[in-house]
Amino acid sequence: MMKTKIVRIDYQKPLAAQLTEAAEILRAGGLAAFPTETVYGLGGSALDGDAAHRIYAAKGRPSDNPLIVHVAKPSDAEKYAVTNALYEKLARAFMPGPLTVVLPKRENVPCSVTGGLTTVGIRCPGHPVARELIRLAGVPIAAPSANLSGKPSPTAARHCIDDLFGRVDCIIDGGDSEVGLESTIVKITGDTLTLLRPGAITPEMLKTVCPSVTIDEGVLDRLPDGVAPQAPGMKYRHYAPRAKVYLIRSAQDDGFDERAIAFLRERLTESPDVGILCFDEYAPHLSGKNVLTFGKKDDEAAHSHLLFDRLRRFDETDAEAIYATAGSTSGIGLALYNRMLKASGYTVLII
Ligand code: AMP
Ligand code: MG
Repeated sequence: MMKTKIVRIDYQKPLAAQLTEAAEILRAGGLAAFPTETVYGLGGSALDGDAAHRIYAAKGRPSDNPLIVHVAKPSDAEKYAVTNALYEKLARAFMPGPLTVVLPKRENVPCSVTGGLTTVGIRCPGHPVARELIRLAGVPIAAPSANLSGKPSPTAARHCIDDLFGRVDCIIDGGDSEVGLESTIVKITGDTLTLLRPGAITPEMLKTVCPSVTIDEGVLDRLPDGVAPQAPGMKYRHYAPRAKVYLIRSAQDDGFDERAIAFLRERLTESPDVGILCFDEYAPHLSGKNVLTFGKKDDEAAHSHLLFDRLRRFDETDAEAIYATAGSTSGIGLALYNRMLKASGYTVLII
């Protein structure tokens, strides 16, 4: 077991002095978990192939699953990837921010970072701690989410501590991740975009800078056996708590609330231990020890912010099954529904 230093950020004080040691660890090939606006990342130098291997080992992650390369400013992408006019437009509109752009990689990025691919995912995070850390490290930072492989992504330092204490050199506690879901990933091909993973930068937003946005079929459907997903991470079991998750959705637009509450009450009557993840409005109608809420029904931003924390909390209960209410798939709702689908292994109950 290795020694893990915990750095708690005080936002009243200058960041640089608080991040010097973590930056030094990264420059020397070590690993540091750090906050971003999407989820916490597990960083290592993106120019050091061995650091990438250490990331895979710490997470227990298969090494054909590429890492995202984080840069301090959007124009740094050019040093590690072949950019084009569409990249420039995306950068102006959405960076720094929760967007990863997949581009052809340059030779200085080791194959271990890209899982053997000839492309690299580049992101410039908007979180002040992440940006300052990358700037101080002086190297681009390869980082997947800072969770053990297969667990929900971490949205707070305590999630990283639960998963990675003793497995990494440093964990930086900078508070909760605001978005709560991983970055939007798009692949650029000439002047067209393919959405590989939905996130807080929505298809509607992408269309404001690029008329041609295709949503990859892996986003809302389980890919047929033998079809390799374009974003390799999409093929792994993801975001899953220990218990089996069932999503409940409405068959029609009207009356869902009454049907959903009745359905959930029946599940609680059958088994009082059952886990329920529901909209705030439903909670007064449901009594059970494993009933958790994740925001008001029409507040997909709140659901996104809280989803992974709630999935992790069910692991601390005796629930063997979890029923979760799903809402609209527009805006960030698409990203939310994509993660909920994966957590449930595509088990959707239409009521
Ligand atoms: P994580 O940050 O843990 O969500 O993992 C990063 C994910 O980004 C991977 O699992 C891939 O699905 C995706 N990704 C990273 N680089 C590439 C790339 N070059 N091409 C396609 N997808 C990528
Ligand atoms: Mg991940």
